[in-house]
Amino acid sequence: MEGPLRRPTWRVMFYTSYAALANRIQEFLKMKIEFVPASEAESASGAWASAAFEGGGLSPGAARFDQAAGGALTRAIAAAKFTGAKGKTLQVLAPAGVSASHALLIGVGPQAGLNAARVETAAAEAYLALKTCGADTLTLSLAGASPEIGAAAALGITLAAYRFDRYRTREKADVKPTIQTVRIAVNDVPATKEAFAPLSALADGVIFTRDLVSEPANILYPAEFAKRVKALEPMGLQVEILGEAEMAELGMGALLGVGQGSSRESQLAVIQWKGGGDEPPVAFVGKGVCFDTGGISLKPADGMEDMIWDMGGAGAVAGLMHALAGRKAKVNAVGILGLVENMPDGNAQRPGDIVTSMSGQTIEVINTDAEGRLVLADALWYVQDRFKPQLIVDLATLTGAIVVALGHDFGGLYSNNDELAERLFKAGQTSGDALWRMPLPEAYEKQIESDAADVKNVGGRPGGSITAALFLQHFVKDTPWAHLDIAAVAWKKPSRVPTIPQGATGFGVRLLNQFVADSYEA
Ligand SMILES: [Zn+2]
Repeated sequence: MEGPLRRPTWRVMFYTSYAALANRIQEFLKMKIEFVPASEAESASGAWASAAFEGGGLSPGAARFDQAAGGALTRAIAAAKFTGAKGKTLQVLAPAGVSASHALLIGVGPQAGLNAARVETAAAEAYLALKTCGADTLTLSLAGASPEIGAAAALGITLAAYRFDRYRTREKADVKPTIQTVRIAVNDVPATKEAFAPLSALADGVIFTRDLVSEPANILYPAEFAKRVKALEPMGLQVEILGEAEMAELGMGALLGVGQGSSRESQLAVIQWKGGGDEPPVAFVGKGVCFDTGGISLKPADGMEDMIWDMGGAGAVAGLMHALAGRKAKVNAVGILGLVENMPDGNAQRPGDIVTSMSGQTIEVINTDAEGRLVLADALWYVQDRFKPQLIVDLATLTGAIVVALGHDFGGLYSNNDELAERLFKAGQTSGDALWRMPLPEAYEKQIESDAADVKNVGGRPGGSITAALFLQHFVKDTPWAHLDIAAVAWKKPSRVPTIPQGATGFGVRLLNQFVADSYEA
């Protein structure tokens, strides 16, 4: 097991493993959010921010500050021809009459129709504009705003402040964020705190996913991934880890074939959250290829380092289960993570190999780089066999073809059930993790017919993401099922979304948290 990079401190002894410690480190590094009475905003030192509406109108919090600062904001607005247009900012340094070092107005667009989503984005933009300003606190004045708006702002900042800097020991001081604490100034502190609690749990889930996806493959290999998930048990999750011997007994020849060229043992993590009644669980299945070299069908060197995020589906499922447990969601959910490393050694599987999946169906492995679907084939079968779930959603960074089809702003959605597809599509619209539905045409089955086995693992270039989904469908009985191809959205460089820093996005956590809330908790 790799140890922590920094010299271990006394703190280490409280944690039974590096995994538990890593989970705790995550909490230490999270942006500190406090809610304070709106009346404290004008007297705050450090950085200060509030909203301006399209047309230059000040929000109530900004108007109070302007008065305390002798009209400094009003004068600056006129001088800068600031319009309050969405995303535009205006900064005033050390205005007289107040103790703030920086005052920032963030444009939120028209006052009419201002909703939580827009405030979440605006708060993130305000944080990003000030994060390296030198002050260690930022006070965001939201006088007059509802608890929901205050909570949305806190979520936006928490997500925007994420950075994966665990291994940067010599970062220059001027690029490091200085803001350590964000104080959200609101009228009703207790109600805003209460509204933020479930969103804070959601943010923890997203951050857990981002950390997993960002970790390099020498640190986060299947057993380490499994350990970090196992360390979540104190949250009320039940976690079982199956190793290669257990999976061999279950007949998971498809999954095991992928990992057999790696010195790292393949794992299957089974995570259960029991927050509902007696109903069968909702199942989430994630592809967790901790590193994908392509195997014997080796990938080109250029960009291969990106394949650390080929476990993004499993990362999203792990983060989702974290979020559901964190906010005690009223649902029974099971998360299955197929964790492997796809490496090309002397024991690696070869193109032309035929493997027998847990379903009994045989698969001709034409291309060892189409490994995610082999992992999912057995994970999907396992979850149906053991849990008889009411529905299954799988997430996988499955194909480059989905990037070509939809670009970087949509996950591909495939389903054998229109109603499920519709619910997922809507959750995508609400949560910001957008999906676009793709077809499952029977006619394309021809492309994955094999002469030697029941099915083959690639169907050629045309409709490459579609034939991958059709392949998965072979391993789904009559359970409502959806497959999300997230290869284009699990990782973004650069990112245009203020709440998503570049790198690991955490795509899928907000989506499926929303889906659970809409479907089972509304
Ligand atoms: Zn691959």
